[in-house]
Amino acid sequence: MNIEYVPNTCPYCGCGCGMNIISVNGEIEGVEPWKRHPMNEGKLCPKGNFAYQFVSRDDRLKTPLIKENGEFREASWDEALDLIASKLKEYREEDPDLLAFLASARCTNEENYSLQKFARAVIGTQNIDHCARLCHGPSVAGLAQTFGSGAMTNSIIDIEEASCIFIIGSNTAEQHPLIWRRVLRAKSKGAKLIVADPRITPTAKQADIYLPFKPGTDIPLLNAMMNVIIEEGLEDKDFIEKRTKGFEELKEVVKKYKPEDVEELTLTPADKIREAARVYAEADSAAILFAMGITQHITGTDNVISTANLAMLTGNIGKPGAGVNPLRGQNNVQGACDMGALPAFYPGYQKVIDEEATEKMTCAWGCSDLKCTPGLTVVEMMNAAEKGELKAMYIMGENPMVSDPDIQHVKESLESLEFLVVQDIFMTETAELADVVLPAAAWAEKDGTYTSTERRVQYIRKAVEAPGDAREDWDIICDLAKRMGAEGFDFNSPAEIFEEIREVTPQYAGMNPERLSKPEGLHWPCPDESHPGTPILHTEQFATPDGLGIFFPIEHKDPAEVPDEEYPFILTTGRVLFHYHTGSMTRRSETLDRELPTGFFEINDEDASELGIRSGDMVKVRTRRGEIEITARVTPDIMKGVLFIPFHFAECAANMLTSSSELDPAAKMPELKVSAASIEK
Ligand code: SF4
Repeated sequence: MNIEYVPNTCPYCGCGCGMNIISVNGEIEGVEPWKRHPMNEGKLCPKGNFAYQFVSRDDRLKTPLIKENGEFREASWDEALDLIASKLKEYREEDPDLLAFLASARCTNEENYSLQKFARAVIGTQNIDHCARLCHGPSVAGLAQTFGSGAMTNSIIDIEEASCIFIIGSNTAEQHPLIWRRVLRAKSKGAKLIVADPRITPTAKQADIYLPFKPGTDIPLLNAMMNVIIEEGLEDKDFIEKRTKGFEELKEVVKKYKPEDVEELTLTPADKIREAARVYAEADSAAILFAMGITQHITGTDNVISTANLAMLTGNIGKPGAGVNPLRGQNNVQGACDMGALPAFYPGYQKVIDEEATEKMTCAWGCSDLKCTPGLTVVEMMNAAEKGELKAMYIMGENPMVSDPDIQHVKESLESLEFLVVQDIFMTETAELADVVLPAAAWAEKDGTYTSTERRVQYIRKAVEAPGDAREDWDIICDLAKRMGAEGFDFNSPAEIFEEIREVTPQYAGMNPERLSKPEGLHWPCPDESHPGTPILHTEQFATPDGLGIFFPIEHKDPAEVPDEEYPFILTTGRVLFHYHTGSMTRRSETLDRELPTGFFEINDEDASELGIRSGDMVKVRTRRGEIEITARVTPDIMKGVLFIPFHFAECAANMLTSSSELDPAAKMPELKVSAASIEK
């Protein structure tokens, strides 16, 4: 019997926990936590513990499939890739912008780099995006505006150093369990925990100060905290003077947001806002953690800027135990953004609109006609497809038929395309609509790097062979590029691709295989091989052109939809402990599926009693986009007037109900966290 332990990185959330894959005679049999890994120190959450179960499923895609007369038939790689190459060439000749590409937060850095390079250098379009658009696009946009860099400012381990932790819009205990462990350790050392959330989540239950607030009122809540801090002279005057600009403009706006005045809007008791503001401002070091509760709004970028304003106001940037920390939901969503799988950025956040950056990439990739205008975002792609302005899409490892807002609209858009290619490990809801489906290798079957939410770059390593004819995503893309006559795709391994990544991505320049192979990996920016990496950003100066952090005064705006007589509830969405994204992997894990086999909606017990609804009842939840039937879960742990649905479950998909009609102007984020809804038993 041949037993192997292969050091690896968890394929689920952005914590980036280290684990060993256990294989027996070439078959994956389990995982065990990597004890020497500094982030998780020998612990895994339930998802991580069962991360191996989906890999060996019988329903893995094993051979390319081509759809004919509405039915898939098996095809060889040559036939499938030649067909795709000829189609893409046709559209490219007509207009490269008739094509769009979705990269994947679940694929490696090398794969995301390859696909965005293919879209840009082979096709000549900037239409490349991925689902970070629908989670932390506003974090990138908001923190880039204020700090000059759109990523978590501090490391996960560093959270333990905080004397106050303010969590807003994140159920950290369920969604980032190994970050939550650090929060609890900080708390056990005396840190105060403030949690703002419309639901009394497992995270909120541990709070010293709990701030209930109505979905869509993040800005008034944060402005009211800043109002108290300035009114009581608790701001860090020295930090404001030496390291920031725009304070006077901020002061003018936040003085309008007295806690007593915003209470009616946010439904947060004014005395609680005052208490939270004092505790946060008076702490020696205070960390802000947030997730999609902050970002998934048409004001997502403004919400993120407000968290940055609060941190700068109190000098809580650039030091241990502080910072503004967007918690990324997926294993490599940070890396996919870093690699330029975004329509406005090349690798390393070099701007597409910057002619110098475009010239640099043109030289590096040996191509001639890169445009200096950003391409389409995820939601814009769907709108363009519906209007016939987009004719073909290539989707790698994404499942917009569950993850994107207004699924009926997504379906109509994808069906409007003339040609759709989906590259994935399972026949997802999106793959079913494709003209060609390409079978990809899963995480345990390939080498490469992931970048976790704390900017830690680390290896994944091949432990077992992919099933059937499935191939690694980078290998498929490079083969396709060569069939289209492109140069610059002669890579023989992810390691060779990473060498090119280092050349064009300043933040990754100092990362070599020897340094990355250590359990701790490296935090970017790491500009040269003698640089130790950067667990804490902005210690001396911000990454803005003049090195100063910028306060932007932000006013409240109503969400795209507010409740009315016909749709009296606010529907909000989120995640649960046992499932990940669209469920394509966790719902194929026997153990995780057994824990929670389908979706539910939460309703406040008083609302439920008025409507005669009891836990377990099947109820119709309806919005202006459509309706779903879903089981009720009655609880006192959600605000009156608010409903909550986890978005993982295709058969009762929360995103049948969400809207894509209005977008955040900077990050193009739809209003995923607030929909006006009605219910019918
Ligand atoms: Fe995996 Fe996240 Fe759980 Fe760690 S906390 S084991 S990275 S799912």
